[in-house]
Amino acid sequence: MRARVAAELEQRYEASSLTLKGRVAVVTGSTSGIGLGVAQTLAGHGAAVMLNGFGSPSAIAGVIADLSREHRVPVAHSAADMSKPVEIAEMVAQTERDLGPVDILVNNAGIQFTAPVEDFPAERWDAILAINLSAVFHGIRAALPGMRRRNWGRIVNIASTHGLVGSVHKAAYVAAKHGVLGLTKVVALETATTGVTCNAICPGWVLTPLVEKQVADLAARERLSIDQARHALLAGKQPSGEFATPQQIGAAVAFLCSEGAAQIRGVALPVDGAWLAQ
Ligand code: NAD
Repeated sequence: MRARVAAELEQRYEASSLTLKGRVAVVTGSTSGIGLGVAQTLAGHGAAVMLNGFGSPSAIAGVIADLSREHRVPVAHSAADMSKPVEIAEMVAQTERDLGPVDILVNNAGIQFTAPVEDFPAERWDAILAINLSAVFHGIRAALPGMRRRNWGRIVNIASTHGLVGSVHKAAYVAAKHGVLGLTKVVALETATTGVTCNAICPGWVLTPLVEKQVADLAARERLSIDQARHALLAGKQPSGEFATPQQIGAAVAFLCSEGAAQIRGVALPVDGAWLAQ
């Protein structure tokens, strides 16, 4: 009797536990910003991590050394360019060789460009669609068969509030992020009876290099200080008046990877200081 109660309690603990010990995670675009915060959080919960993204070899070596020392998990880096489908498939194969089968795929890499739609360079449109949307498809296509075979997997797509609402001058970004949410729903339906889940997170403003550029552009355009431009950016959209942090996005990803989130499927979870509540 006692043993049965203990076993049940153990099972309940497992269901609510955030441990990812023994899991292998690929986080695209994790040399900076949100992806780095997600990689740090997943490593903190015990997952081995395949980093990806651009940066100097010494900076990347520094991130690998910090993460593995701090969390005592295996960490590696793939230089795959997310605009190249062949390199995305190779990133998944390299992860299997270096760290083991991919249990968690976080599709995070993304770029931004702003211009009125009639002035939007076609080449920027193609690049944003390739990296922010098509790479999500190619990553899922490469990682899902193994997850299905093992009947466990977590796919988390970093979309944006711009997956649900528009903003001026962001035609390609808004189109790509709406596409990511559509793809998330389809993959969630196709895996609904399996141990694989697919969800999206919709961050509002997060102060990363991608947003620092928009802050600098606004400061130059409106003759504001950087601090004033940061406040103006938030005031326009994010009622909390505060940026979300990469670590907070990481915490949401870790929750979606937990056993407690096994029946959360196909959702778009905002982490946006009430941006989408308006
Ligand atoms: P960031 O510029 O700080 O980081 C982007 C990462 O992607 C870097 O590691 C970079 O090296 C990598 N990357 C860029 N192009 C790549 C390519 N072709 N191949 C491989 N890696 C590539 O940006 P961020 O703000 O951390 O954004 C990360 C994700 O979060 C993006 O998908 C972005 O759309 C989304 N997002 C950001 C915010 C925000 O406020 N910062 C809000 C909503 C959504």
